[in-house]
Amino acid sequence: MQTTKTRLIHDLGLDNLTDYCKSENWQAFRAKQIWRWLYVQQATEWDSMTNIPAEIREQLASVFQLNAVSADSVETGTDTTRKILAELTDGDSVEEVLIPAGPRRTVCISSQVGCKFACTFCASGQAGFHRNLSAGEMAGQVLLAARAFGDNPTNVVYMGIGEPFDNYDAVLKSVRIINHPEGLGIGARRITISTCGLIPEITRLSGEGIQVELSVSLHAPDEALRSKLMPINKRYPIKELLPACREYTRTTGRIVTFEYTLIRSVNDSEDQARGLARLLAPLKCRVNLIPLSPVDEFSGRSSEQNTADMFMEKLADEGINATARQSRGGSVNAACGQLRFGGKEAGTTDGS
Ligand code: SAH
Repeated sequence: MQTTKTRLIHDLGLDNLTDYCKSENWQAFRAKQIWRWLYVQQATEWDSMTNIPAEIREQLASVFQLNAVSADSVETGTDTTRKILAELTDGDSVEEVLIPAGPRRTVCISSQVGCKFACTFCASGQAGFHRNLSAGEMAGQVLLAARAFGDNPTNVVYMGIGEPFDNYDAVLKSVRIINHPEGLGIGARRITISTCGLIPEITRLSGEGIQVELSVSLHAPDEALRSKLMPINKRYPIKELLPACREYTRTTGRIVTFEYTLIRSVNDSEDQARGLARLLAPLKCRVNLIPLSPVDEFSGRSSEQNTADMFMEKLADEGINATARQSRGGSVNAACGQLRFGGKEAGTTDGS
């Protein structure tokens, strides 16, 4: 019997919550009632759950932690992007980013504290890996974003700190929690998981029967350069990764997006654009070109605007559907690849 509150209530799927209520001999409808308090009313205090009898609330409060994450500090960028330092119950913290754009409210959430994959141009892995986030801690980031936006996010992207496929079970569990129609109800097609290219999990995702968007970080058109930029390429090289993506599309009918960060004079030449187009020609896919965000530990610079334009045009000429992503959040170090864990120690926030 659990006596300390080390369990997060948000780590329970509706099925787990139902089992728990059964084990306590509570009426069958309690599980859904509690679920709605968590994800519809988004309660932050047990006592606000007014239609739950006091003894049940007390029992829940004695076993479960209600708030998986809390906002330690919030910084607003010059472009309305906001970065939240989300503090976890053990004192660790991760960053999440709120990106409002017209009717869209996108939140970029973290899946791990730190990262093992050490892509050279990314800040998140520079201090190594600390631990996985639980499903509840990921759902908690979405709830925190809902509070900060004043409304539920319309889109959720797993593109913050960490490698989602290195924490596959918890990530998928969190997807099912935030997607649940009787809770937050965020549509699967509005949820994007981004991976550095872990092939077994790409294959595994294709069997889940869930229509989430898959993004794969490519960043180079050849093995040598990709291995230099992304050490994971030595384990899962392009020549195996692309067939796995092709197979993913064949089984799910879903198109993969390849992320390609443009780094000046490293991966942005005309030849490289052509090479990339040739590589991707056999796939149904799209390419998302991302400007490099500055990271202290990486000396590369972002491509000149005219080079980026040329690169995109070349891809289009070769029949590849490419879009250029606007960099958002740079003024608060919340752009792609600038997120770090541990906030204060890492010196990324002023705590104001
Ligand atoms: N681990 C996942 C999620 C990472 S972040 C993945 O690798 O896909 C989301 C995207 O930002 C990835 O494509 C990542 O390669 C990219 N990124 C990392 N650092 C960056 C930087 N400094 N500038 C621009 N994009 C970056």
